[in-house]
Amino acid sequence: MTTPAIPTASTATVEASTAHTGLVDRRTAVVAQGVPRATTLDIRSASGARLVDADGRSIIDLAAGIGVMSVGHGHPEVVEAIRQQAGALLHVCMHVASYEPYVAVCERLAELLPHGGPTRAMLVNSGAEAVENAVKIARQATGRAGVLCFTGAFHGRTLLGMTLTSKVAYKRGCGPFAPEVYRVDYPHRYHAGVADEAVFVEQALAALREALTNRVAPEQLAAILIEPVLGEGGIVPAPAAYLQGLRAICDEHGILLIADEVQSGLCRTGRWAAYEHAGVVPDLSTWAKALGGGLPIGAVVGKDEVMQAAVPGTIGGTFGGNPVSCAAALATLRVMERDDLCARAAALGARIRERLLSMAASSPHVGDVRGLGAMMGMELSFDGDPRRPAPELAKAIAAKCLERGVLVLGAGVEGNVLRVLPPLVISDADLDVALDALSDALAEASKELPS
Ligand code: PLP
Repeated sequence: MTTPAIPTASTATVEASTAHTGLVDRRTAVVAQGVPRATTLDIRSASGARLVDADGRSIIDLAAGIGVMSVGHGHPEVVEAIRQQAGALLHVCMHVASYEPYVAVCERLAELLPHGGPTRAMLVNSGAEAVENAVKIARQATGRAGVLCFTGAFHGRTLLGMTLTSKVAYKRGCGPFAPEVYRVDYPHRYHAGVADEAVFVEQALAALREALTNRVAPEQLAAILIEPVLGEGGIVPAPAAYLQGLRAICDEHGILLIADEVQSGLCRTGRWAAYEHAGVVPDLSTWAKALGGGLPIGAVVGKDEVMQAAVPGTIGGTFGGNPVSCAAALATLRVMERDDLCARAAALGARIRERLLSMAASSPHVGDVRGLGAMMGMELSFDGDPRRPAPELAKAIAAKCLERGVLVLGAGVEGNVLRVLPPLVISDADLDVALDALSDALAEASKELPS
């Protein structure tokens, strides 16, 4: 069978200097090409906010394993908790017997993330699984099937996750997709070209209400699923007033509000949950990435009465809440709380924003700088025009950053956003070096643009 020509997905691969090790050739020979590959880096170890490649080069990490390594690579307390748990109990399955670390993680999540009253949790292995389970729970709780989601959304690569995901490049050829999924525009003010936030929110909520008369009946909807800050879709925080309006619409129609906090959650935005910035409490929320400090674990957290609507046997999985991942999660949450990584994220975010804004002031092609806490993005568009995205410029900047020893990832439906998601333990000095590199890379790549 010949290999099909696959249109390029999100961000094209950035070439690294470690090609000589041959690892990428081995990967190309045996690993399915459908698994994304943002760079050709061959990474051997990592610590804190630094990666070490096969040549022993130290690279400042502004990607954090796509928003995972908030407590830093190889945090000693997380590693020690993993060691101890591995020696005691590797697996038994929560469906077979109970073990303390699973219950302790659920207790911690319920304490840290109260959903407006008694709160429960269940554990899974990934963000996509968390989203799948949240939707199943919402359907059982409401007796309704429909889910309303947004453009720009990313909710994972399982078939329902992919259905809920918006970007076509992430789902091409994978259908038929799950039924009863409806989509409206994410409140993306820069793309809408509306200067005034209050005016924009009014328009966006009116469009949502219109969708409930023109696309799907509200009484058909089990849930509205939203990332409070769009991650893969380009680091776009939903305006607080929009989230508040969404909450009100859900309440009016008995629709459950699900916040997907897989990328934005657990200190990243300066709060435990990004939805806290808007003073909104969802009925259900989904978590993964940063929770395990590097090990795979995800969670659905929700209001007691909603979570309890799930019939025994309908949620869970063999490995969900594995003891070792739970031990890592408990250590991770302990470090986050003790070291106040929420405050650290807010401080880092302020520093990043200031630097990105000064880059924007010196380049006509930085159309927008936005984000919440240490979840920041810079959108590149020719002459700042949102209708003329510049993904090649984003790729060129990422490549030049890597030459300078800084890893930065792309994002956005058009691949024209650079996102800054450092481990929250990054030092001020490393952050400054990384942002200097980003600034130099932007200046150099902008000069090389064809006029
Ligand atoms: N939801 C959001 C908001 C995400 O950003 C992601 C992954 O990037 C997912 C869900 C899927 O998570 P996972 O890759 O762990 O399945």
